[in-house]
Amino acid sequence: SEPILKVEHLKKYFPVRGLFKTIGYVKAVDDISFEIYPGETFGLVGESGCGKTTTGRTILRLIEPTSGMIIFKGKDVTKLKGDEMKWFRRHAQIMFQDPYSSLNPRQTVFEIIMEPVRFHGIEVDDPEEFVIRLLESVGLNEMHLYRYPHEFSGGQRQRIALARLLALKPEFIVLDEPTSALDVSVQANILNTLKDLQKKYGFTYLFISHDLGVVKYMSHRIGVMYLGKLVEVGPADRIFENPLHPYTKFLLSAIPVPDPELARELKKKRMKVEGEPPSPINPPAGCRFHPRCPFVMDRCRKEKPPLIEVEKDHYVACWLYAKS
Ligand code: SF4
Repeated sequence: SEPILKVEHLKKYFPVRGLFKTIGYVKAVDDISFEIYPGETFGLVGESGCGKTTTGRTILRLIEPTSGMIIFKGKDVTKLKGDEMKWFRRHAQIMFQDPYSSLNPRQTVFEIIMEPVRFHGIEVDDPEEFVIRLLESVGLNEMHLYRYPHEFSGGQRQRIALARLLALKPEFIVLDEPTSALDVSVQANILNTLKDLQKKYGFTYLFISHDLGVVKYMSHRIGVMYLGKLVEVGPADRIFENPLHPYTKFLLSAIPVPDPELARELKKKRMKVEGEPPSPINPPAGCRFHPRCPFVMDRCRKEKPPLIEVEKDHYVACWLYAKS
């Protein structure tokens, strides 16, 4: 089928201002391309500062891209204005990480959910009934209708935020670390609700997280980001069974394993990756992972590795896999 979203050569550079002039750019997202198909979850994973959150926000034009194309249902989002932009705002939504700042503390749950419905001019016969149905679909109920955000736990607030975005019947939802501020037990519940809703309504998700375990649980396909670049893209099971990029291998080896024997086994194989990610202001030349890569070769320091298809639907940007 046709992708619902196509991202082509997307760049987002933030200027770094000195006292008198711009002294450089943070290349938060630096020429990435990928596609997302209807009804799937595309997971975007990487350490903090890799550009995954900027990617999600740029796609929704919450921040303006520096260059590149974002095609949503055949329309270039970077060029939308007026009514078309409003159409896009309705059909492409975001769920943020922080359950404490995303809801207006002075509004009741009813008002919180109805506000965007009114803004978009959506007609509902019985607003109370409409909001109750939405609350029920996310595991809340009519008892919560006229309460205020401070009366709820973090997990419940995320459910309210979810009900609010469901009210607009979106097709595409960016989930930006939606559970990372929550307790592990609450996390699992919210993730399962998100999966159930996807099955029921056919939502397409861009799931952003630093937690590879959570990304694996949620995603059909995964993109691994490092310093503003996509370094590996492929089906979730392939990435886990057969990670190709040295950085992906490193990320995988850092997942906590509950079984002590397996943990010992993994520790023996664990890759040694030195240091912290370098600054995206002046990213390393060539392969951006080269200062930390145990397999670095001469070429890696000079030439940027392109993202190439190594096996069906599995792409990697690393000179170890280049044929020439
Ligand atoms: Fe390592 Fe070179 Fe591959 Fe980069 S291109 S990940 S430095 S082997």
